[in-house]
Amino acid sequence: MADSQRIASYYLARGYKKSNSSKSASEIVINTCMIRQSAEDRVTGLVKNVTASRRPKPKIVITGCMVGMAARDETGKYLKALKKRMPEVDEFLPLAEVGFDYPALRSDVEHAWVPISNGCNNFCTFCVVPFTRGREVSRSFNDILDEIKEQTAKGCGEVTLLGQNVNSYGADLVKNNSKGFKLPSGRVVKPIIVKHLGRFRIPTLFPYLLEEVCKIKACPSKSSIAGRSGGLNKVKFISSNPWDFSDKLIEVIAKNPKIDRNIHLAVQSGDDQILKRMNRWYTGKEYLKLVEKIKNKIKDAQISTDIIVGFPGETKKQFANTVKLAKDANFAYAYVAKYSERPNTAASKAFPDNVPYREKEKRFHILNNLINQKGNPRTAVH
Ligand code: SF4
Repeated sequence: MADSQRIASYYLARGYKKSNSSKSASEIVINTCMIRQSAEDRVTGLVKNVTASRRPKPKIVITGCMVGMAARDETGKYLKALKKRMPEVDEFLPLAEVGFDYPALRSDVEHAWVPISNGCNNFCTFCVVPFTRGREVSRSFNDILDEIKEQTAKGCGEVTLLGQNVNSYGADLVKNNSKGFKLPSGRVVKPIIVKHLGRFRIPTLFPYLLEEVCKIKACPSKSSIAGRSGGLNKVKFISSNPWDFSDKLIEVIAKNPKIDRNIHLAVQSGDDQILKRMNRWYTGKEYLKLVEKIKNKIKDAQISTDIIVGFPGETKKQFANTVKLAKDANFAYAYVAKYSERPNTAASKAFPDNVPYREKEKRFHILNNLINQKGNPRTAVH
């Protein structure tokens, strides 16, 4: 959504006008996702649908993760495959061309999605994100605060800070400056480092960014928008990873009632062997300890999560460990996903996708029923 809002603004800046419907648009821009095969299939289907009955055919532009993957694939094979799969497409627009600099075109005044970083350095073996969005790049502290101040002045009361690994924000900003980082307020802070599995993670600035965001005051002239008391009254963030969830971050959340108490913390599996093969930096026990610490220190904290079932080689016993962890963690909800092999990932190269689809389905329903209850399936994965 945040990327699409910037893409829209990029087009307006080039003289385009927004159309009311894809049926009347002369040019259609499709922002793509490829976190799972089903997401890619939906893009192919959409391209066929919007072009099927239109003569002359509208110009079709594809952007987002599928193009990110093509842009980073030096062999050119992925782009060739995309062109073959969707011959209707006229242009492939890399998101990097749009960047952070365009102001988001928002229709919602009260809530703003605010990207704080883009890309990921973690290389979980199942995940295509480092290949589609590249390495993690943090937005400058000032840019983020300025955007939020601007939105607050327009009446925005709620922001969601976004990043693929939101709580490692700033790792690249402090790379050669691990002793101290000067915040826009002039305060010099020491980057936060977390230790997991006996190893130190990269230093981050995320807790300080959250603190600074919470200090943003209301604009007096907009103090009664939509019946609210005015100003920034809710700060959310997604998606955070357990290995960068520091004590300092817990302390900042506990102290600031504006920060949302629904904390999304992807676990992916409850089995240590599977976590290791996923290249995730914690054990099930460490994860549960973190959940306990968060719940003890932050009043009313609720934890939600992402879980993948049917990762290559996942045995019934290993799946049972995930079920046990889910019971122990008492998740508020979970996005449960069936493993889907993604191109270029380490898992796709090293581990055959050998859990039968029916078994994946079975495991999906067990966890979904356990955590989300019947009738409320959540099937996305971050
Ligand atoms: S699952 Fe999250 S942390 Fe892991 S590589 Fe993908 S985006 Fe990064």
